[in-house]
Amino acid sequence: MTAKLLILPGDGIGPEIVREAEKVLVALRDRHGLDVVWEHGLIGGAAYDAHGEPLPAVTLEKARAADAVLFGAIGGPQYDTLPKDKRPERGLLGIRAAMGFYANLRPAILYPQLANASSLKPELVAGLDILIVRELTGGIYFGKRESRVVDGHQVGHEVIPQARVASDVEQYSDYEIARIAHTAFKAAQLRNKKLCSVDKANVLESSQLWREVVCEVAADYPDVELSHLYVDNAAMQLVRAPKQFDVIVTANLFGDILSDIAAQLTGSIGMLPSASMNEKGQGLFEPIHGSAPDIAGKGVANPLATILSLAMLLRYSLKRGDLAEKIEAAVQTVLAGGLRTGDIAAKGEATVGTVAMGDAVVAALD
Ligand code: NAD
Repeated sequence: MTAKLLILPGDGIGPEIVREAEKVLVALRDRHGLDVVWEHGLIGGAAYDAHGEPLPAVTLEKARAADAVLFGAIGGPQYDTLPKDKRPERGLLGIRAAMGFYANLRPAILYPQLANASSLKPELVAGLDILIVRELTGGIYFGKRESRVVDGHQVGHEVIPQARVASDVEQYSDYEIARIAHTAFKAAQLRNKKLCSVDKANVLESSQLWREVVCEVAADYPDVELSHLYVDNAAMQLVRAPKQFDVIVTANLFGDILSDIAAQLTGSIGMLPSASMNEKGQGLFEPIHGSAPDIAGKGVANPLATILSLAMLLRYSLKRGDLAEKIEAAVQTVLAGGLRTGDIAAKGEATVGTVAMGDAVVAALD
């Protein structure tokens, strides 16, 4: 069956980097037998400029009809003064919510050729390849929130006559935990079959349920080795010996923090892809970086994170792991050949622009 994609370039460097990923898509269609069609849509500031809305209904309709969405980046200083509901990021948050993207997959890969880019010693990180699976639509970011003034507020043994008090509730159901656990176990099955579930079960009731349910789900995946870590230890282990991990699964808040730590380990924001998936297997695939207004229009942005997002799209939404591997191998070849955009070049190293990098990946596919 012909796969249907929606491409949303967005703002800033978005159109430049997405254009390079699209070249790779054309090559896979024309020369490697990928049966695919695609169309484009507007989101973020570009959509606001054209329609007065960061997520026009027509974009959402196209996304619903697609098997997967390839997304560039959104945002820019010209939109910073817009009212909250018109801001570019509303477009991204809106599409995630409307499509029910509950699973966020964030690989952190450090190609051996770029080991010097990390703030850790090269021997600790060279060849790093981990995947963080973050629950994206539950937990404290979506729990009940409240801000109030309390008379006679108790802190330990003290009573404060009047205090401003705010609270956010961390809540998970067994359904939500099982759903993300299945996603993580399946992802581990496609990799090195090791899953580490991260929680704070020594303190939090919601984490105790998390651990219980993850253990129940584990029965369906006897080939995957399951371990557990408290989140504070996990953060420490990520910077101490990150290569011990294969797949990490965790709640929304913990995942937000741990995935940024993991990204920083690689030291190359222009290299990292991500995916957000729903229960139907539809996904939104995007680089983890933003629209980089400081370099937009200069032709110097690194397109590899977007090209690698296309690889994730092929693996997770179109079930074409073979073609995903082809793209990843092409990226490796290009890096091994010494090609570098400015963001991944060592001091004094020659650099190439966005288009040359994209062309090189296309050439390396064969
Ligand atoms: P950013 O990721 O856009 O940029 C941070 C730094 O990394 C900049 O110096 C930039 O030049 C560099 N950089 C980023 N991507 C690069 C690439 N592919 N190649 C080379 N260098 C790259 O983050 P920011 O500056 O904090 O935010 C800029 C805008 O992007 C803001 O409007 C923000 O809201 C938005 N943003 C969007 C997303 C998204 O679309 N998912 C994510 C984060 C930020």
